[in-house]
Amino acid sequence: MRLVLVGPPGAGKGTQAVRLAERLDVPHISSGDLFRANLRDKTELGLAAQRYMDAGELVPDEVTVGMLRERLAEDDVEKGFILDGFPRTAAQADALDELLRDAGNELDAVVSLEVGEDVLVQRLLARGRTDDTEDVIRRRQEVYREETAPLLEHYAEQLVTVNAVGEVAEITDRIVDVLGPR
Ligand code: ADP
Repeated sequence: MRLVLVGPPGAGKGTQAVRLAERLDVPHISSGDLFRANLRDKTELGLAAQRYMDAGELVPDEVTVGMLRERLAEDDVEKGFILDGFPRTAAQADALDELLRDAGNELDAVVSLEVGEDVLVQRLLARGRTDDTEDVIRRRQEVYREETAPLLEHYAEQLVTVNAVGEVAEITDRIVDVLGPR
């Protein structure tokens, strides 16, 4: 199963991706986690990404695509994946399309998690990550609307939408239901 999760920051992509990875037995690949691991290890890539992350801006596509290309070349990805946080721009989506095409694969579905903006800001403020201050959160929402929301059209054919307000377990069930037997 090859899945992409999309949704604004705070929609619960990470939470749901972990649960889906377990249910579907495929690796969970989170661009944010990959960046944070690079930051922790003080790699060149991590240092290059830091100022963008701190400001709630997107890391430049070349850096992001390079990082994901490497991750998607690892062996465990052969059985599928759940992508969380990538792609986030049209250029990233094009790069992913090309990678998949070259490997003779395609996405099974793109799952859009739908949550209203006020709920999002409340959830993120409660989470308390260092880049979760109100200004940075609002900037990430803006970037989502401008850069990432248009991807929903790019993926119109594979798109399924899920109401992501409710209990965590209930939302996982909704996603699994909407994916149906594949
Ligand atoms: P959130 O979904 O709450 O914004 P993430 O952990 O997905 O949090 O991302 C944190 C930060 O990492 C983003 O604000 C951005 O700077 C960077 N980032 C993550 N994914 C991408 C991506 N696909 N392209 C560019 N930057 C990214």
